[in-house]
Amino acid sequence: MEIHVILGAWYEKEKRDLPWRNTSDPYKIWLSEVILQQTRVAQGTGYYLRFLERFPDIFSLAEAKSEDVLKIWQGLGYYSRARNLHETARFVASHRNGEFPDIYSELLQLKGVGEYTAAAISSIAFNEVQAAVDGNVKRVISRLFSVREAINSPEGLKTINALAREILDPENPGRHNQALMELGAGICLPKKPRCINCPLNGICMAIKENRVEELPLKYGKAKVRNRFFTYLIIRQKEKIWLKQRGAGDIWQGLYEFPLIETQSQCTINDYPSLLSEYLGAKISEAQINRISDPITHKLSHQNLRCSFIHISFPGDTSPSQIPGAAISIGEFGEFPVPKLIERYISTSGF
Ligand code: SF4
Repeated sequence: MEIHVILGAWYEKEKRDLPWRNTSDPYKIWLSEVILQQTRVAQGTGYYLRFLERFPDIFSLAEAKSEDVLKIWQGLGYYSRARNLHETARFVASHRNGEFPDIYSELLQLKGVGEYTAAAISSIAFNEVQAAVDGNVKRVISRLFSVREAINSPEGLKTINALAREILDPENPGRHNQALMELGAGICLPKKPRCINCPLNGICMAIKENRVEELPLKYGKAKVRNRFFTYLIIRQKEKIWLKQRGAGDIWQGLYEFPLIETQSQCTINDYPSLLSEYLGAKISEAQINRISDPITHKLSHQNLRCSFIHISFPGDTSPSQIPGAAISIGEFGEFPVPKLIERYISTSGF
């Protein structure tokens, strides 16, 4: 029996009932694919439902303020995804009268839509015969055919894409793509794949050649960069200061407390000179109330070592050079902030 037939039958029986599987609306499929690019289903489902409740169609998303889009996305990470969704929604609403492109080549022109996402949307929403190759699919195919090249090399990718096209179900490409992803997410796991429960174990080359453990082959991973952040939680009565992050770095468009970034971890002895440089002459009026222990926050290629210094200005004057703007503490929840800051404030307060 052909691979797609076995896989299709298995999927019909075993697939999880996920909210985006009961629709052919390209807006909803697009949203689910973008969320699931870097997020697991368990975490992404709640975000998907909240996002749709707030922005049920492309027009409501197009008309939204960027702060509101980022706020719904808060905690999900990789915020460029939210910015691209927003920009694309505006484009589709204004240039295409809200009509989503319905072919792969046009989907590929949309901001934030790469080959994988375009193939997923075109096959699932419009039944176009395109193979959607994400990380899960690369792993499954690499094992199924015992691929000898690294999956993160150009040759390896070429081989995987060719094999993915070869085994595609021409009648039902959307279901087939989802079935392969489902197999990768639940059975052909990165560590300890559950081969005994796999519908393809009778034809899997990795099993035949005893290569399951070593596949997929990968070149060395990118180096992790260490960064050292000291956040100043500056308070004056019921006001605190927040600053929006700019372009070209992590968390673009999100808000955070005034930040001092240093080349190495600060010690308690470094703070007086750092703070006087930052707060200028007004340092004598500042009261340091608390300094947190350093917290490590991991991103995909960065380890952030972060401390929080709680400073208050008891009088009515505060330094004019504090970057950002003062807001009332009650408004804090309305601003999109990185997960690190949300977590810190929810456990430690201002
Ligand atoms: S038999 Fe095992 S290694 Fe092969 S595809 Fe299935 S789960 Fe993956």
